[in-house]
Amino acid sequence: MKTILAFHAHPDDEVVLTGGTLARLAAEGHRVVVAVACDGMTGAPTERLDELRASAAVLGVARVVHLGYADSGHGPLLFPDPPGRVRFARADLDEAASKLAALLREERAALLLSYDAQGGYGHRDHVKVHEVAATAARLTGTRVLEATRPREPIARAARFLRLLGYDARALRTAYTPSAEITHRFDVRPYARQKRAALAAHRSQVAAGRGRAATLFRLLVRLPVPVFGLLLGTEWFREPAAVVRPGFGRSMGLRRLGRGWSSGARRAARHCAP
Ligand SMILES: [Zn+2]
Repeated sequence: MKTILAFHAHPDDEVVLTGGTLARLAAEGHRVVVAVACDGMTGAPTERLDELRASAAVLGVARVVHLGYADSGHGPLLFPDPPGRVRFARADLDEAASKLAALLREERAALLLSYDAQGGYGHRDHVKVHEVAATAARLTGTRVLEATRPREPIARAARFLRLLGYDARALRTAYTPSAEITHRFDVRPYARQKRAALAAHRSQVAAGRGRAATLFRLLVRLPVPVFGLLLGTEWFREPAAVVRPGFGRSMGLRRLGRGWSSGARRAARHCAP
């Protein structure tokens, strides 16, 4: 039994990119800890953290930690700090990394889950998660897997959205090129848990506003098999593997061809800490 620490930006991020993986690791008997940098901007902080704890309980997470930062928001403006808290995007990198490193040491974590360098779709708090996690991993020598998605289908969707008049330019360079993805997990057996964990974020789903809330409401109403089809795969990039010479030839590119499934199964075994 090992300890896995999943570092996320906001409550609900733990579900979308890593919910199935966390449920699977917990079901296999590992200790899973979720650390969240921010308490979420939309909704009262205590409510968002309560929802995170409810979601974590569904996924089998043993402990939830909030690093104490405020959400920085998405868009051109970085708002002033709220009383008593610093917005994560403005946080001192070394200070945040030393907090995360202390938690990694306390938990004797064998694996740290974080985000890719793009911060997925580019939210400034997600980019900061990548930076803080990379620094904390260097300080502690912890293995890292970066939660991500294959870039190409998203870039295609961005081109389609552009035809409809939306400005989706940022999505063309979001997430990770498929050739750099090292781990692909089939988490469909955990789709029911993942759906219930998403629904636990009530302020973002049932009572939420905006496009994301509409999408979440739609997702939690889907039958489990359909939810599993849409959100039953989770992807990771292991930076230490990608920098190895010959990676593109030996791992990434070959996995996109005939060996994709078996490669992914090997990767899944390889990832089991
Ligand atoms: Zn987020």
